[in-house]
Amino acid sequence: TFRAVLISRDDDKNQTVEMTEMTSDELMDGDVDVRVEASTVNYKDGLAITGKSPIVRRWPMIAGIDLAGEVVASRNEAWKPGDKVVLNGWGLSETHYGGYSERARVKGEWLVKRPDAFSARDAMAIGTAGYTAMLSVLALEDAGMTPDKGPVIVSGATGGVGSIAVSVLSKLGWDVIAVTGRASEHDYLKRLGAGEIMDRAELSEKGKPLDKERWAAGVDCVGSHTLVNMLAGTKRHGAVAACGLAQGADLPATVMPFILRGVSLHGIDSVMMTPERRIEAWQRLASDLDRTKLAEISSEVPFDAVIETAQALIEGKVRGRVVVDIG
Ligand code: NAP
Repeated sequence: TFRAVLISRDDDKNQTVEMTEMTSDELMDGDVDVRVEASTVNYKDGLAITGKSPIVRRWPMIAGIDLAGEVVASRNEAWKPGDKVVLNGWGLSETHYGGYSERARVKGEWLVKRPDAFSARDAMAIGTAGYTAMLSVLALEDAGMTPDKGPVIVSGATGGVGSIAVSVLSKLGWDVIAVTGRASEHDYLKRLGAGEIMDRAELSEKGKPLDKERWAAGVDCVGSHTLVNMLAGTKRHGAVAACGLAQGADLPATVMPFILRGVSLHGIDSVMMTPERRIEAWQRLASDLDRTKLAEISSEVPFDAVIETAQALIEGKVRGRVVVDIG
């Protein structure tokens, strides 16, 4: 048997979450079995565990959108026992049993080789949040954005995606403006490489359709008015990557930044991203994310503490990234 965090619901759709014992026979279909060493708590894990948004689409469900571990059995020719792997998304904790489990059975196509630069814990200190931060950076680079064009703005900066985005962008030579609601974390953001801190209140309310041109590029983790104001303040021919909705899923915008300044908006979907782009993102994380900053960003909790940590994250009480020690 192995331990797993199972989300269930009754006939009245009341949700319960508990640590439970399961057997390998109960795992879902897949051609690779993984001994999970570590997982992590992302915003989406918080939503799933608290039931605040409908993440789980098949019941009951093992939570956890990420895992890092070692292959213990494989019927897929790409993988063999002993291989070190990482899995981000692909419907884990939505339609397929997730990473809050000592064992996982998954499709080999979903796995990425863990870069040698990272331990399983490092990989989960990055997790979907960090890999999404890198997908956002790649999207900005594809749009032709370079540090000489002007500053880059990052919202939700003390969160998981935000902390890694600030770290990577500063290492790449960008002048980073970090947007946060936490006055107590300005020093933390400066240590990660932010050159300027902006209070999130400056962007969170309805603003002008076009504002003064202040930054060339942006990574937005919060959506709603914040994203709209980020677009309104983007320099001519700049680009913004949209990856989150911590403020709201709405987009109360005008087309003015697009048609008068040629600003472009790039959507980031980490869950169904192609295997090639995943490998590229993990390689870039190995080269462009400073390891001392990763240590600064991340903390670790035991497997038993994962449910309470997910709740705390949704309440905005978690800074950076949390690794879950599965075993
Ligand atoms: P997180 O660690 O909880 O960070 C979210 C941050 O957003 C918070 O730390 C906070 O930063 C800020 N925030 C929270 N509530 C806010 C509000 N009402 N208004 C403005 N800012 C607010 O979450 P995460 O794991 O980094 O994820 C960030 C977002 O990206 C989430 O919406 C998540 O669903 C999304 N995401 C999307 C993908 C994708 O594939 N597109 C992948 C991963 C994550 P400050 O305290 O610094 O202001």
